[in-house]
Amino acid sequence: MRVLESYQPREALRYFEEICSIPHGSRDTKRISDYCVRFAREHGLSYVQDEHNNVVICKPGTKGYEDHPPVILQGHLDMVCEKDADCDVDFSKDGLRLRCDGKYIFAEGTTLGGDDGIAVAYALAVLAADDLKHPPIEAVFTVDEEIGMLGADAMDMSVLKGRVLLNCDSEDEGILTVGCAGGATSTLTRPIKREAYPGRVWRIGVKHLTGGHSGVEINSGRANASKVLAAILNDLPVRLISIDGGSKDNAIPRSCEALVVSQEDLREGFARLEKAARDALPAAEKAAEFYLEPAGSALAPMTGESSSSVLALLTALPNGVQAMSADIPGLVQTSLNLGILNTGEDAVTMTFSVRSSVNAEKTALIEKLKTVGTAHGAAYAESGAYPAWEYRKDSPLRETMVSVFRELFGREPVVEAIHAGLECGIFSDRLPGLDAVSFGPQMHDIHTSRERLDLASTERTWKYLIAVLERL
Ligand SMILES: [Zn+2]
Repeated sequence: MRVLESYQPREALRYFEEICSIPHGSRDTKRISDYCVRFAREHGLSYVQDEHNNVVICKPGTKGYEDHPPVILQGHLDMVCEKDADCDVDFSKDGLRLRCDGKYIFAEGTTLGGDDGIAVAYALAVLAADDLKHPPIEAVFTVDEEIGMLGADAMDMSVLKGRVLLNCDSEDEGILTVGCAGGATSTLTRPIKREAYPGRVWRIGVKHLTGGHSGVEINSGRANASKVLAAILNDLPVRLISIDGGSKDNAIPRSCEALVVSQEDLREGFARLEKAARDALPAAEKAAEFYLEPAGSALAPMTGESSSSVLALLTALPNGVQAMSADIPGLVQTSLNLGILNTGEDAVTMTFSVRSSVNAEKTALIEKLKTVGTAHGAAYAESGAYPAWEYRKDSPLRETMVSVFRELFGREPVVEAIHAGLECGIFSDRLPGLDAVSFGPQMHDIHTSRERLDLASTERTWKYLIAVLERL
């Protein structure tokens, strides 16, 4: 029996369960894209699948709605693959171990990909239904949203006729998002040299930090493991062999580990620095664990110059919230997250997710990264730049969605702009006059193995979606 068999909304959850059974991490979207194509064929719907694996599926308006303006239903196919250290799920070939406790849907040991599988599931359920009232639908499923919205960016949008877009990639029920930050993925590459150097090899690290999404939780008092460890190493008499932390530019790293060589016994200094680091951690990071242990290494240590330059650079680089919005209380305006720190044989790379709803601030922050990087011998590169989604004063879609919400749930939705990037920025940049709103069912701890989708909220949000479609 299917795990979600007995829960509502039945059809959407059936598709969600199927999606969870198909591996679909970022850059691994061919199978999930083909699944959508098979769905379109089986339902006699026209579709476009491009070479990037983006898929558009079209369905005519239902009776009486044939001539209404088409509506774009949009979500992304890829998910962030994070798992617990002791979890043996292989994201390249295994489906998720889907569970439901009656309140939450989650996946054992891994991310769930409710972000954004639920959007795809809702859209497929709308496309498959014969008992709904809705305008012509263009369901747009993009790939690689989580690694810089690469799919939306590469997509040929001339196939889209709709100028009304419902993006279902928000994770707080009752919040309608109408604007977002623009951003970029910035990478600094610091070449290193290695040489033989006598001394004892140690493994030193920090783990079990909280982590989280760099757009959603950057101001929630979560420490960046790479910055925490770099600060400790900067004060120890060591030569770096390697330092590695995090695996996604948009996830706050939960752990960071270094191999170092030292001619001194590090234990006393480490104990002192650990205490200072622990005292400086935000209250949320009670579970943090620091460790130091003897180790071995096949790689030679970096030269003194390389090692101290890398640590100086890591210490000097800005990280976290840089500015709050003066107009919208509580909105982070500009931030960056050192998401990936990686050591290769001849270089250390540092990859940041940079965000701002003010383009000038984004440019200035990138300029700062470049300047600090260059001063420490690193080269700067950038990818996946995406435009901010600017607030639209006059939005019939927003008005409709607010009043349907009020009618259905007897309360006002919150209308807001967010710091996270949404593909709506790219769509509004490319589709002139686009009226868009982002919404979605309640999820918790996305991009972590604790991700869970609220079941009751998923049912309410489905009802909301079909009520909105009926009014468009
Ligand atoms: Zn998402």
